[in-house]
Amino acid sequence: MSGKKKIKVVQCWDDGVINDIRLTELCRKYGAKATFNLNPGLMGEERRKSCWINEEKGIWSYNGFACGKLAKKDIKEIYEGFEVASHCWKHENADCFPVDEWIKAAVDARKFLEDIVQKPCTGFAWPCGRTTPEAIQALREAGFAYGRTVANMEDITKCEDVMALPANCHFSNNSFFDLYEKAKADNVEVFYFWGHSYEMYEYDKLWERYEYKLKYISNDPDAQWANVVDIVPLCKGR
Ligand SMILES: [Zn+2]
Repeated sequence: MSGKKKIKVVQCWDDGVINDIRLTELCRKYGAKATFNLNPGLMGEERRKSCWINEEKGIWSYNGFACGKLAKKDIKEIYEGFEVASHCWKHENADCFPVDEWIKAAVDARKFLEDIVQKPCTGFAWPCGRTTPEAIQALREAGFAYGRTVANMEDITKCEDVMALPANCHFSNNSFFDLYEKAKADNVEVFYFWGHSYEMYEYDKLWERYEYKLKYISNDPDAQWANVVDIVPLCKGR
């Protein structure tokens, strides 16, 4: 082997849906780390089942698949051994609220999660990737470690501000492996992908594609899994 530094691979998943159960089980199987960005205010006392809906039903769906939500009481057990992070209390988009109201939603979710997992949860993912300069500043002042956007960058350690942290790509990117191998060839220190587990529906072929990625990375001697919060010190704009 070349003695080269291993690339740190990080992944995160948004919205706290039922499909995260299957996803966490796969990550455990391959020893993969992952961060889950949650909206406790949208999680009920009981689980809500997944269903396929007709347009006219008027509830939010992903191409007709209304993925169930985990219950608040599921958080501790389902995400045991993983990182959880704020995705605002009820998925509040930064550009739709006054900044003081918005930052309260970001902090309330963090406090709620910290009470459950009994450790700091300083990660953050921007709902719908929507940032404003005021919200970025408020996030920094509130002591968050980073805020993930939906932007892509070939080397995220070069990003100007970790409060608007890009990823390398979405997990379903058709060029996923090309991007991953290119990052390694370029000696990039971090490879970061993200998504929503509901994007795999309950469709085994899509889950197999994801499992293949986990297996590939876990078997790669040049890679090691890391948590998002732990790669922040590697970033220039922290
Ligand atoms: Zn979201």
